[in-house]
Amino acid sequence: MTAPAPAAPAASALPFLPFALPEIGDEEIAEVIDTLKSGWVTTGPKARRFEQDFAAFLDEPGIEAIAVNSATAGLHLALEALGIGPGDEVITTTHTFTATAEVVRYLGADVRLVDIDPATLNIDPAAIEAAITPRTKAIIPVHFAGLAVDMDAVLAIARRHGLKVVEDAAHALPTTHSGRLVGTLGSDITVFSFYANKTITTGEGGMAVTRDPALAARMKVMRLHGINRDAFDRFTAKVPSWYYEIVAPGFKYNLTDIAAAMGIHQLKRAQGFQQKRAQLAALYDELLADLPLILPPRPAAGEVHSWHLYVLRLTDDAPIGRDALIEALYAAGIGCSVHYIPLHLHPYWRERYDLQAADYPHSQHAYERMLSVPLYTRMTEDDVRRVAAALRQALTG
Ligand SMILES: *Cc1c(COP(=O)(O)O)cnc(C)c1O
Repeated sequence: MTAPAPAAPAASALPFLPFALPEIGDEEIAEVIDTLKSGWVTTGPKARRFEQDFAAFLDEPGIEAIAVNSATAGLHLALEALGIGPGDEVITTTHTFTATAEVVRYLGADVRLVDIDPATLNIDPAAIEAAITPRTKAIIPVHFAGLAVDMDAVLAIARRHGLKVVEDAAHALPTTHSGRLVGTLGSDITVFSFYANKTITTGEGGMAVTRDPALAARMKVMRLHGINRDAFDRFTAKVPSWYYEIVAPGFKYNLTDIAAAMGIHQLKRAQGFQQKRAQLAALYDELLADLPLILPPRPAAGEVHSWHLYVLRLTDDAPIGRDALIEALYAAGIGCSVHYIPLHLHPYWRERYDLQAADYPHSQHAYERMLSVPLYTRMTEDDVRRVAAALRQALTG
């Protein structure tokens, strides 16, 4: 007996519109080829240049940028450098990707997940304050979708309770809060991601930034096996190059020059990419305004939203559910995603901490009604119109 063939998606004359696509230009490609031909493909001059360019981009004296092979690695290094360990608790949002929280567990510390503010989908400062215990050591706010967390509130709580702050800025390049770029806001360490679908990409990669020279030094040592000199230092130094010392059981988190070569040119385009994303987001806002949808929260006047994601929520009285809406968009040849299945619903987190959805009513309510539609620089205005028309068709028949 053969199973019936799955129903084909409704025939569409248009090609499939993926949920995300990187924009990689001739300059990135030429720089990668230059690296491949140079004889130095792992961490070296291009990674160093990318770090210097990144610090210059943030344009704040005293900030050091440390390139790593993922944001997950950067978050792990950040918490390690801050001395987080067994017996400690770290507070973060349930409404994030698991990487934000798993790094706490790498170090044997415990995670306290808290709910979001439904207006912003960002961690709720009042919920942070309510979750603090004598074991709490740090807070990890996540700038969800690229809209800045109320960092004034988070930093004030941290100061009052003597807590460290590590910003998960995987979505937040470039994002501002009070007119200042995320990365310069005064937390201990901020970590950016250059994963394939982020606002700039190196395929895989990340950057940890800090003003504190001791934290920077610790992250640099732990990024490469706990060695007190990196391989390129040894290669270029005037002293005999074979000698090094291991000062800690470190990790293998360095960024290759091949990846950094992409990053150097992606970074130059970051502001232009943001403008394009903001224009497309504004067009979505205009086209979707009358539909039974809650549009993404907007930043305060004068602030920059990176527009990493365009996250819609169905209103409570919408005529169809979220899953059916995603199916309808897929049938129209449009890729979508959901950001996120909150951590309190995943078996590992739910079982480890005996979490109940009822304890996260705002995240749960948002999750059940949310979908992310395509928003990236290679989209045209016609692509946005096509997505909006498919949403209209599905929601108004
Ligand atoms: C992508 C992402 C990460 C992890 O980034 P990687 O570079 O893939 O390790 C962490 N947190 C959030 C919120 C993310 O979206």
